[in-house]
Amino acid sequence: MENRKKENNPYEIAKNSLENAIRKLGLSDEVYERLKDCDRVLEANVPVRMDDGTLRIFKGYRAQHNNVLGPYKGGVRFHQDADLDEAKALAIWMTIKCAVVNVPFGGGKGAVTCDPLKMSPQEIERLSRQYMRSMAPVLDSRVDIPAPDINTNAQVMAWMGDEYCSIKGCDDWGVITGKPLALGGSAGRETATGQGIMLAAREAAKALGFSLKGATLAVQGYGNVGSSAARFLAREGCKLIAVCDIFGGVSDEDGLDAEELFQYCRQTGSVKGYPKAKGSITTEELYALDCDLIVPAAMENQITAEVARGIRARLIVEGANGPTTPQGDEVLKEKKVFVVPDILANSGGVATSYFEWVQNNYGYYWTAGEVSERLELKMVEAFQHIYDYRRSFGEEITMREAAFMYAIQRLAEAMKLRGWVR
Ligand code: NAD
Repeated sequence: MENRKKENNPYEIAKNSLENAIRKLGLSDEVYERLKDCDRVLEANVPVRMDDGTLRIFKGYRAQHNNVLGPYKGGVRFHQDADLDEAKALAIWMTIKCAVVNVPFGGGKGAVTCDPLKMSPQEIERLSRQYMRSMAPVLDSRVDIPAPDINTNAQVMAWMGDEYCSIKGCDDWGVITGKPLALGGSAGRETATGQGIMLAAREAAKALGFSLKGATLAVQGYGNVGSSAARFLAREGCKLIAVCDIFGGVSDEDGLDAEELFQYCRQTGSVKGYPKAKGSITTEELYALDCDLIVPAAMENQITAEVARGIRARLIVEGANGPTTPQGDEVLKEKKVFVVPDILANSGGVATSYFEWVQNNYGYYWTAGEVSERLELKMVEAFQHIYDYRRSFGEEITMREAAFMYAIQRLAEAMKLRGWVR
């Protein structure tokens, strides 16, 4: 069986996608040379005094991939499997994603190798502040702007932002997005990735000739992305029939209440044991369900070839970054399962981070309605561009290939204009 993590190095996968797209576009080798690796990476020892008095040194990373379209931008992940190659891959995907959704940012990503589920809130605060101390020299609201990712949230952004402002001796909250509202966060940012997934799913369903109303839905991962996607999709009339997270899964063919499940998950830390569910479900069973739509919203490399062979859904909208392995992608292509790729489907998060940054720079704030309206415009436009671009190739390429090619064309044009490549 394909190993979901180790044998599918996300950095190698990201480089292959770049190479294939550049080859198909007939662009010069210089474009690949500029994009295949990060402009800069910083690896740091992040020392943290633990609650029991011991000192632990965590590995921290920041990868800055390419800034031809604007400052590097990307989340910070706290995870036990995080490493530099993963950060580099996620930074490459951010460069592509920003070009797809047309926001003036480049690609960046940060991470700390740690298991936050085994740490106290005080230890997480000290880790967040120390991480920022290590990374502050390479961050700035015009240079590189972090945001939340797996196991980090608005509170973590508040600690990091506070540390940054005290190190620099000035108030520059535009250096970080996904902040709490009280510190200059944007209305709608916390649920923006999920709202964007709903919009991408709605547009894809329309293109495939079905409506979200009554469509059956399964979601892997019920954190920020999974839970907000499920709640937005439920509001559009989707029936949520299964959810699983790292601890377990629940199912109900009559539909789970996405909102209530979210509240339960908030209190207990997992969907496992949700008392109103009719049954429990494993990840493997979830992916093999007879349903209309699956949203993977957990980790990379979940849809392997083996998992893909069992998939019966007609539409997959990728909430997580890199949830499908290249082998899984091949199988889905053969089976004609329509996949809205991560670099398009979850771009609502960075689009709204862009709105937050714009509001911070202007010092003028928008209502939730204004943010939501602008996000809808961005997502619908991005979906349409990639969908039409794919059709211009006679549908021989996948939506993922189309998104890569579309983005790389924009990046290559900007790099040529700036004299970076010929
Ligand atoms: P999170 O930490 O809030 O939630 C992660 C969820 O996935 C949790 O429910 C966790 O239990 C579950 N999970 C983790 N490993 C799992 C496994 N092996 N099997 C089943 N479930 C598992 O993280 P998040 O912010 O929701 O991010 C999820 C994904 O979405 C990541 O790939 C992230 O890079 C991507 N993403 C996040 C954002 C954002 O705005 N937060 C934006 C774009 C993309």
